[in-house]
Amino acid sequence: MKKVAIIGAGISGLYLANVFNNNPEFDYRVFEKREDFNFSKGYGIQLSVNSIKLLNKIGFKNLPASEVFFPSKVNFIQSNNSKKICDIDLNQFNDNLNRYTTTKRSTLLKFLSKNIPNNKIKFNKTLNHLDYADDIKAYFSDKSQENFDIIVIADGVFSKSKFIISKESLKPEYNNSVALRGILKKYQDNNISIFMGSNFHYVVYPVNQNNEYNFVAILQKKLTNSDLNNEKIFQSKDFINSLMKILNNNSSVNLQNLTEIQAFPIFVSKSFPVTNKKNIFFSGDALFSFPPSFAQGASQSIETAQEIFESIISNSDNLYKERISRIYSINWRSKLNIFTFHLSNPINIFIRNIILKYLSKNKIFLKNYLGKIYKN
Ligand SMILES: Cc1cc2nc3c(=O)[nH]c(=O)nc-3n(C[C@H](O)[C@H](O)[C@H](O)COP(=O)(O)OP(=O)(O)OC[C@H]3O[C@@H](n4cnc5c(N)ncnc54)[C@H](O)[C@@H]3O)c2cc1C
Repeated sequence: MKKVAIIGAGISGLYLANVFNNNPEFDYRVFEKREDFNFSKGYGIQLSVNSIKLLNKIGFKNLPASEVFFPSKVNFIQSNNSKKICDIDLNQFNDNLNRYTTTKRSTLLKFLSKNIPNNKIKFNKTLNHLDYADDIKAYFSDKSQENFDIIVIADGVFSKSKFIISKESLKPEYNNSVALRGILKKYQDNNISIFMGSNFHYVVYPVNQNNEYNFVAILQKKLTNSDLNNEKIFQSKDFINSLMKILNNNSSVNLQNLTEIQAFPIFVSKSFPVTNKKNIFFSGDALFSFPPSFAQGASQSIETAQEIFESIISNSDNLYKERISRIYSINWRSKLNIFTFHLSNPINIFIRNIILKYLSKNKIFLKNYLGKIYKN
């Protein structure tokens, strides 16, 4: 029986724990920095069919229908006048069993944690050091130590554990943008709507069948290092209000009903962690974190975790070759999306809207730009 340590009980780590849980050849443990799961926030997550296919295999399809939503379109809307430019039909990427899904992040995490026995998850623990011999000796923050055959690093975008393995400078970079998240009630829309403004965009979508909507805005914002190191800035009412003012002044949607608003800086990866150790893997945002404009971070975290499992089972070396090429294709799409959504010059906006109208109905483009990513 192989012993596996998964560092981080987020989307990637917990998905992988489920896969190991269904496979008695492995004895796994999940080590999580927090003292418990954080199910309190109601923010949303979009899951495209590539990850839904994998999630359904571990029982996601059995969740009560009221806790998920299946949007059928993505609407592109000009923020200042709420004029719809075009839409993309998401049904073309679905099949009979797997559909593009939106839900609450907490619903996904509750689902992923439900089948993991309590004794398999160790809270309040971080990795301090590794020693390599026949197996890998892991030393933890509470001074405990344990031997493992395989270590999977899945501790998110600010992964500290990857520095223990890959000594290079792998710090994520500030993406010159800030995210605002909130819950929108008293709103009516059965689709995902992307509102495009000058140097910002925001996305609204239902997260369940109870009229709760996720709101997420990405606004360009230059910040100094000292701002970025000061968490209090992002919690301050003045900072949040100044961002909301930009949105309210440039949007014809009533955002007054927005609750639970939170601001945080967006950090993205510039490079990949490397190791010559065969039994060490990086998954999810710890491997690579994208700008959040293609809604693929969580889906890719799930895909990577699945590929890590398959690579362990088949003893293959191909994991990162294929993964890195997929990461490149998602990363440039995410950057192109942000550029397109945030245009501010009226002539550029006019041209963009014509191009969007054309491309949103062009089957070949959609197959290449979205289909390639959604159908893994
Ligand atoms: C504004 C925004 C909107 C997004 N929307 C979407 C979307 O709609 N669809 C989508 O697919 N993706 C989306 N994403 C991306 C997605 O949220 C992430 O890619 C995904 O959560 C990454 O999963 P993960 O498991 O790698 O990391 P996480 O989910 O961040 O989990 C990491 C876990 O590791 C723990 N941890 C941290 N440090 C340590 C340590 N040293 N030791 C032990 N444990 C540790 C953390 O507490 C956490 O539990 C969005 C991202 C942002 C910023």
